[in-house]
Amino acid sequence: MLSALDHVGVAVEEIDAALPFYRDVLGLELVHRETVAAQGVHAALLDVGGGHVELLAPIEADSGIARFLARQGAGLHHVAYRVEDIEAVLRALAAAGVRLIDDRPRPGIRGSRVAFVHPSATGGVLSEIVQPAEPSN
Ligand code: ZN
Repeated sequence: MLSALDHVGVAVEEIDAALPFYRDVLGLELVHRETVAAQGVHAALLDVGGGHVELLAPIEADSGIARFLARQGAGLHHVAYRVEDIEAVLRALAAAGVRLIDDRPRPGIRGSRVAFVHPSATGGVLSEIVQPAEPSN
């Protein structure tokens, strides 16, 4: 069902304040930046091997990321698994009685489609499934 660990999401107050550590100290390549209005976040993707670190900062004070930061401060926010058919995976999870935050995909970074699984179903880890955009050529 899941084909790879796609990324880990890290909540930060400001992308530009967090970036120097990941990019310059750890040497990860910044491959993408985007504001994802549907999730209320500014996002930056840094490449590490086949996966990514996704830095997330809030657009506004009432977004999910802003509430997370207010509750527990900056830190690991979610783990994301890559899938090939997000609707099929959501159907399988729902059929297994897994509590979902999103029962249908919503827009993610870089044209992907994503859905979140409730941490109560995953041992306390907010988990995301992500179907990447089709490669364009
Ligand atoms: Zn993510």
